[in-house]
Amino acid sequence: MRKHLRSPLIIALLAALAGWALQAADPLGHTYWNVVYKLWHDPAPSSIVVVTGVDANELGVAGEARLLDIVRQAKPSRMFLDFKLQGDSASAGDDALRAAIARLSRDTAFVVRSNKNDRFDAASFNMPDPGLIGHRPVVLSAWSVNFLFFAESSPNAIVLGGVRYPVLATVLAGGRGGLGGTFYPDFAVDPQAIPTIPARRLLDGHAPLGLLTGKQVIVAGSAQGTGAAYFGHQVPSPYALDVAGAASLERPFPISLTALPLLGLAGLLLWWAGRSQRPLRNRIYFATVAAVLVLPIGLRMLGIVCYPDSALFALIVFSGMRLWQERTRKIQQTSASGLPNMLALSNNALPVGCDVVVAAVARYEEIMATLPIELHGECAIQIARRIGAGSGATDIYHSDGGHFAWTEEARPLDMQLSHLEGLRALFAAPLQIGPNTFDINIHFGLDRNEGVESATRVNSALASANEALTNGRAIELFEAHRLAEAPWELSLHARIDEGLRNGDIWLAYQAQWDLATNRICGAEALIRWNHPTRGPIAPNAFILQAERAGRIDALTYWVLDQAAAAARTINAKGPRFQMSVNLSGQMVDKPDLVRTFGEIVARRAVDPGLITVEVTETSSLGNRTAAVHNLTQLRQLGFRLSIDDFGTGEASLAYLADLPSDELKLDRRFVARIVDSDRERAIVASTIGLAHALGQTVVAEGIEDAATLALLRSMGCDHAQGFFLGRPKPFAVFEREYDGGGLRQFGYV
Ligand code: C2E
Ligand code: MG
Ligand code: MG
Repeated sequence: MRKHLRSPLIIALLAALAGWALQAADPLGHTYWNVVYKLWHDPAPSSIVVVTGVDANELGVAGEARLLDIVRQAKPSRMFLDFKLQGDSASAGDDALRAAIARLSRDTAFVVRSNKNDRFDAASFNMPDPGLIGHRPVVLSAWSVNFLFFAESSPNAIVLGGVRYPVLATVLAGGRGGLGGTFYPDFAVDPQAIPTIPARRLLDGHAPLGLLTGKQVIVAGSAQGTGAAYFGHQVPSPYALDVAGAASLERPFPISLTALPLLGLAGLLLWWAGRSQRPLRNRIYFATVAAVLVLPIGLRMLGIVCYPDSALFALIVFSGMRLWQERTRKIQQTSASGLPNMLALSNNALPVGCDVVVAAVARYEEIMATLPIELHGECAIQIARRIGAGSGATDIYHSDGGHFAWTEEARPLDMQLSHLEGLRALFAAPLQIGPNTFDINIHFGLDRNEGVESATRVNSALASANEALTNGRAIELFEAHRLAEAPWELSLHARIDEGLRNGDIWLAYQAQWDLATNRICGAEALIRWNHPTRGPIAPNAFILQAERAGRIDALTYWVLDQAAAAARTINAKGPRFQMSVNLSGQMVDKPDLVRTFGEIVARRAVDPGLITVEVTETSSLGNRTAAVHNLTQLRQLGFRLSIDDFGTGEASLAYLADLPSDELKLDRRFVARIVDSDRERAIVASTIGLAHALGQTVVAEGIEDAATLALLRSMGCDHAQGFFLGRPKPFAVFEREYDGGGLRQFGYV
């Protein structure tokens, strides 16, 4: 039912009905008739002639009297006096007019026009003095008008004071139309084409009287009537409406069908179009528009009035909605394959009890690159078909980047995972696209957060699929808590800047000890964030996010700046003090890294040799050549280089060979176990030997007890860092302890 209510046809018909009830479609009908009657002209009825310009001010009352005699003598079939009768004074002229009227035949009718549109009561008509007109008939003229005061219809007769008066048009039409009902003027009658003779010419004897003989003659003044307007023509004389009315009554079926039959017809045709296929459907649309535009004209030729207003209204609403739908469909369709795209899925309400799955196809761009463009769609369609066959889903959504999305019934997690594994197995067989064969490998992202908005779920599944693809995993499940984290991660950029500004982000300094001299020889600067609402955030938690948010540069430069200032302060005290800062693997290949580092130490007036740059996460080095180039340059500037977390990266040994470095930092995961594990001890011992052989200093981090420290010392490790020797602390605290001679704190001296 709801689906039907959203159909453009139903909405268009309901809108048109409402428009009809509220007369909202009237402007359409008005424009339609105005245009139609500008183009469509029929000759005026030849039986009617109008004598114009009968005005006492111009002709004088005596002139009017003479005119009546002239017209009478021409023997018209009937006369209608349609001018303002004065003749009520005792002047000679008035006497003449009274006498002239008295000489008129008994069926000469007096026309009385209403002084208000849409009103048909006694107050709207100024009836003439019976003494003047005798017992001659009175005919009326009054109009119902539209919202722009254009005449639309008139009753055939009007009852005033219990007397039924016919209107002029019905009398002109020989009584057709009867005394009940309504008629609709035929505006095809061109008002300019109604035969007229100026009164002045008759009086001057310049017009042949034969023009009036046998005709119905309206002797018309100029000022009567309400000024109801005439479709297709501007400001015609009031009698034009009566003539048009008479013309309409002469058509075979002078009736009105209102606007509804045409609306019904349009509705039927549009419904039929909706059930038809392409070429026929377009023909039916065309036929509907043609019917709505042409039928009212054709019917009106028969006298039948049929308004196109509501049907036009429905057509406009319908085509507007169809265009909108078409546009949405285009947006929601992937160009190459014709499959609906992710947006289409995001915009739909997802079925209840479903999981959203996105499949990411590995190396999709490469596959596309090898295929001719016309086969791109085919490739997507084949993949979608295979997914459909394996999952039973009928609607597979596709985005050009090689992602396919659909919904799965929400099974228990283990079942869902094995279902997807099975689906993955379906892709073991290669795809055959044209002459090409491809192995296809797909990775799934799964969202099980029922109740969350469709768009969010689709994006979550998409993000998980990408993650699965990057990590080489078959399926990645989107964890709901990440949703809560998302806004925080996405606004990290601004928050980091704010943290740097207001001091929430600060540096802790952890001492590094020289094991040969048993004194503090330096410190590592470690970043800290005390977030006002989230509390302290561990660097591991936000460094990665800062990298993702593209904010790691600002953070790194800020750290170096602060650490350089601290290094200067401590070095000013005398003994050489080496300051270590961490450089994220993401930043090592940045083009402006070396220049900026150089600028910072220059600004702080610190010898770069006092700064050790610890390169972390070396396994994720992006552009190796640029990285090696940068590190070499940093070293040429005088910075010391250290390979952090040595032994954890996938290829630490390879890096040791490649990267220029001065120092090796043994990761605490090895260091922590050397006391208990012979193996780890052997690894650390040989690593120290290797590093020394390569001319590197060795720093052990993560020393938490005296035994470990003693063991490392015995192994020949150069420097030591760890909670046992001092925790990271604010600079003021660190400086105080340093001044107090940190050496004495541990009885190792
Ligand atoms: P890292 O460079 O390996 O730093 C040493 C980490 O070991 C520090 O953790 C330190 O607090 C911790 N640590 C030191 N001694 C001990 C110990 O005896 N036991 C244990 N369990 N831990 C010890 P922290 O400060 O949480 O930093 C973690 C990581 O965050 C750092 O590892 C480094 O990779 C990164 N990081 C910290 N500051 C920065 C920075 O300014 N820039 C960049 N790019 N990374 C940073
Ligand atoms: Mg470090
Ligand atoms: Mg480390």
